[in-house]
Order: sequence, then structure tokens, then C-alpha cells
Amino acid sequence: MHSLESLHTFGLPYRAKQVIPIHQIDEHAQTLHESYQQGCPFIILGEGSNTVFTEDYIGVVWQNHLRGIVFNEQGDHIQIQVASGENWHALVTQCVQRGIGGFENLALIPGTVGAAPIQNIGAYGVEVAQFIESVEYLDLATQQIITLTGAACEFGYRDSIFKHALKDKVFITQVNFLLPKQHTLVTQYGELSALMSPTIQSVYDTVIAIRQAKLPDPAQIGNAGSFFKNPVIDTSLFKQILTHYPDAPHYMVNAEQGLIKIPAAWLIDTIGFKGTMQGGVQCHPQQALVLTNLQDATGQDLIAFAQTIKQAVYAEFNIALEHEVQLMDARQRVTL
Ligand code: NAP
Repeated sequence: MHSLESLHTFGLPYRAKQVIPIHQIDEHAQTLHESYQQGCPFIILGEGSNTVFTEDYIGVVWQNHLRGIVFNEQGDHIQIQVASGENWHALVTQCVQRGIGGFENLALIPGTVGAAPIQNIGAYGVEVAQFIESVEYLDLATQQIITLTGAACEFGYRDSIFKHALKDKVFITQVNFLLPKQHTLVTQYGELSALMSPTIQSVYDTVIAIRQAKLPDPAQIGNAGSFFKNPVIDTSLFKQILTHYPDAPHYMVNAEQGLIKIPAAWLIDTIGFKGTMQGGVQCHPQQALVLTNLQDATGQDLIAFAQTIKQAVYAEFNIALEHEVQLMDARQRVTL
């Protein structure tokens, strides 16, 4: 058995039957294909920043170590071909250092480049989808490398084809980005709007400062970032909430359909969970959306606390929170 403690940022002390690092995809394509065909439990892991193992795992953990970044000039664009095991923030930093704009709002988002298209990472008004030219993946059923254009990835808010039709069927090997040389900074969100004469560098620095002030460093306190998704609700439910909470923060997502986004952190904070503990798990004192492994937590502690929060939010607001983090039991993902 192999310890998983250092392979996922929440840091629970569980183990897996087998952990296989992948440095070259062609060396493992056949074995991956066979695992897939035989229906053996397996998980593809990047940096483990969005996955929590809540028990010992009986399957195989394939760990993505694919590396390589190539920058190409293409007329009025820069194309960047990035192997999926590269660290996302390191890529953002390289771009900022080269004066390439586009990713600066997405600084410090944890995880690998290969994970970025799966949930279409986004922050402070920018989504990665707008820069994705194509995604290359190993089709586990056929062993072929397929290139899917950005348009065919069906990107939505924290969503893509990799969470639906292609879920558990592919190993993303490379992401190809296209960034315009003429870049317009996006600064309308929160603290960014206060920046005078913003630059790529100052937006990057500010995003880092905001995130570092609010979010615990997984190297010091185990956590998996935002635990719940920010819910999108309809206008009638929102009006009910306003009768009790006239100052509820909210953002219009789609005026025609009457869809409104409410910060999950506000819901959780409002009913008093911020800073509280259950078992060894804490609801982070600076950001209620993050649960942390404060005191030798167990998988059961985490699941129990997350369920308590979910039920309390539902009881008060009639909103069913969904977890963003992928929770693994001994064989598969679990849904709270
Ligand atoms: P936050 O800034 O407190 O915002 C909470 C929610 O309010 C988010 O859903 C955000 O929308 C929305 N919001 C805030 N300002 C807005 C504005 N001016 N216009 C429209 N919507 C607005 O959130 P946080 O939890 O501290 O996270 C900071 C940023 O990182 C957010 O943009 C969040 O979405 C992002 N984030 C991304 C991931 C991911 O990619 N997996 C995970 C965690 C956090 P948006 O979600 O549209 O930004």
C-alpha cells in the first residue's frame, strides 16, 4: 500500500493499493486502456488539490507528471502548448514574466494545467476557456490521442465536456492556449477595481495578495480550496431570501432566465459556521467556503461536517449546496 497523505492537499492519512507516476503517456497507454476495459477502479490525479481520499483506496492512482511548455509566435497571438502535468500557477507566472497577458486573474489557482479545462477554472471575471485553442487527450477506450477544439469542449461555468460525455474516459495530455498579443485587462471584480493604472503585473500581484490573505496554504493546513460551488438560484427563491436578508450579496448570471449567483461563503458565514470546528475539521476563519484539516481529521469527520453545513444551509435558505471537491471512498466518488 502507498500513502496518499502527501498526494492530496487535504492530507488525510489514507493509502492506495498502487500509485503509478506517468512521465510519458505512450509508456502507459496500454495499461491505462486495460484498466479501463476491465472496469478496475482507478483515478487520474494531478496535484490532488481538488480531490480528498476519505478512506483507503482499493484502486490504482495514476499520477500525472507530464511536463513541457512551448511558446510559439502566431501572428497577433502567442500559442502556448503545455503538457497537462505542469503546475497551473507556474504557467501563469511564466506568462506574466514574459509580459503575456490573459492568465493574470487566474494566479494561484491550485492544480495542474490538465485540470484547468475540466472545470473551466475561473476567477475575478476571467475563465480559462476563452484562451483554450484545443485540448489533447488519450482516449482510454481506443488508445488514440484525440485533439478537441476549445469550441468542442462545451465549456460552461466551472463545467466542460470532461465532466459529462468524456468523464472518466480520457487522460488529458496537453492543453494548447492562444493568447492575443493585444490584451485587455479585466479589473471590474472586487479589489481589482480599485487598481489605478492596472498592468498585467499589478493584477497578478493583487490577485495573489487577495488569495493569500483569505485562503490557507495547504503546505501548512490541509485543505482542498473551495469546498462548495457558488449556487445559482432563480429569482423567486432569491426574493424569498431577500425578505429575511435584504442585504444578501448576489450577482445576476442570466437576466432573461432570472438566474442569480449567491456566494456560498456568505450563506455558510451567515448561519454561523465560519471558524467553527467539528471533529478535526474547521470551517476556515477567513473564508467560510474552505474546510481545513486542522486537527488530524478523518474522512468521516470531513463528510459529517460538510453534511451538517449543507443541511443547515438548506434549512435556512432552501438552497442545496453542491460540493466542488471530488470526494473518494474506497472505490469511487461519493456525493453528499
Ligand atoms: P468571491 O470573490 O467572494 O466571490 C464569490 C462569488 O461571487 C463568486 O461566485 C463570484 O463569481 C461572485 N462575484 C464576486 N464579484 C463579482 C462580480 N463583480 N460580478 C459577478 N460575480 C461576482 O469569491 P472567492 O470564493 O473568494 O473566490 C475568488 C475568485 O476565485 C472568484 O472569482 C471565484 O469564482 C474564483 N474561484 C475559482 C475556483 C475554480 O476555478 N475552481 C475555485 C474557487 C474560487 P465568479 O465565480 O463568477 O467569479
